[in-house]
Amino acid sequence: MPIGFSLTFKLLLIAFGAVSVGLWLGETAGWVAACAGLALLHVLHVYQLARLQRWLQSPKADELPDPWGMWGAVFAGVYRALRMESRKRDEVSRDLELFTQAAQALPDGIAMLDSGDQLLWCNDTAAQHLGLQPGRDYGLRVTNIVRVPRLAAFLQDVPAEETLDFHPAHNAGQLLSLKAIPFSDGRKLLVSFDITKIERADTTRRDFIANVSHELRTPLTVIHGFLEHMSDATVMPAEQVRRHIALMVQQSDRMLKLVDDLLMLSRLEGSDAPQREERVDVHAMLHALADDARALSAGQHTINVTVDEDAAISGSADELRSAFGNLASNAVRYTPPGGAIALTWCVDEQNRGVFSVADSGIGIAAEHIPRLTERFYRVDRGRSRETGGTGLGLAIVKHVLLRHQAALHIQSEPGKGSEFRIVFPVWRGVVDKPAARADAA
Ligand code: ADP
Repeated sequence: MPIGFSLTFKLLLIAFGAVSVGLWLGETAGWVAACAGLALLHVLHVYQLARLQRWLQSPKADELPDPWGMWGAVFAGVYRALRMESRKRDEVSRDLELFTQAAQALPDGIAMLDSGDQLLWCNDTAAQHLGLQPGRDYGLRVTNIVRVPRLAAFLQDVPAEETLDFHPAHNAGQLLSLKAIPFSDGRKLLVSFDITKIERADTTRRDFIANVSHELRTPLTVIHGFLEHMSDATVMPAEQVRRHIALMVQQSDRMLKLVDDLLMLSRLEGSDAPQREERVDVHAMLHALADDARALSAGQHTINVTVDEDAAISGSADELRSAFGNLASNAVRYTPPGGAIALTWCVDEQNRGVFSVADSGIGIAAEHIPRLTERFYRVDRGRSRETGGTGLGLAIVKHVLLRHQAALHIQSEPGKGSEFRIVFPVWRGVVDKPAARADAA
């Protein structure tokens, strides 16, 4: 029943009762009855109000006071309003939690600053990038807690596109890039990116271009010098001309080899999988490689080949020939005359195909071994060039092996020799394992 109607009805009831008492017992009795009725009504309402007030201090549905008359509607209305309010609050805090989780999941750092550059919130990545303590540092001026040179000036005049790049004091090996994005009433969003890898890739690219240019420049300078000399000379003995031309051919061969290796590398780096998968007859391949090595050695080394007859592998024959060939030619080039070289293809006890090239050459000091497969990394630049090296052989080997999921193991001792061992995964399909056969040159 509506509250106004219920109250009017009760007042009318009291008035009617009082008039009846007045008519029956006299006017005074009627007034007394009216006052008593109003007083009772008042006490009951005050009582209900007190219960409502007590319940509102911690409103719970199951403790809702048993209301009387029109108070039932009031209690239920208040309870409904409170429940709606709390549902809205739950929804807002759920959304907020979701946004916080999303901001935490970002790979970049996010820090929110107020108009006075005081920290309002930051995700864990920003905390790690900028050396902040979430919670503890909230409310502090970010320029007082983040040790980044030029940060104050950067925040004062936030340019739309520019970033502030810096190495954080607590992790000097890392390179971070900071971007400040203004939003709503002078607040700012500080976004930090880890650009260490991008910078490293940039440096590698720059070094690579510098190395290639340098490698090409040397033979080009020689050829250019000879050509200039020949064009200036009015008369030149035929023998000298032949010598010049022979040297120019040598230098152009060097350039050709370098360009071939570069093309091979760029092809290998272009995709993860071997050019094609085929059954590679390692037996035949190794004997052909040994013949090439003997030609390069010109009889100055003993070259042995040991092959597990039926052990074949699946992969790209061209790529594997190139990788194995690079190792074999390195063995010849870095082994002084009179030394021994052994090419072996076998199946190990775990049924994996293993190719190895062992030499009794100059060997490699331990500190160089981890870097040998880097492009243009050479232990002895002079010897590499003298023997026609491009500095790319082992980088090619590395990429071919990556594409064949194979591992390269290098063991070496300066002055004693080296062993380069390639281990293929079992699933590359090694067939049978009959007795090994040895061929000697
Ligand atoms: P390079 O064309 O200079 O030989 P590689 O990439 O094939 O380039 O090899 C990188 C470097 O590793 C070589 O310059 C050389 O110093 C070293 N190296 C490679 N193989 C051997 C080996 N069998 N014995 C000694 N040093 C080697």
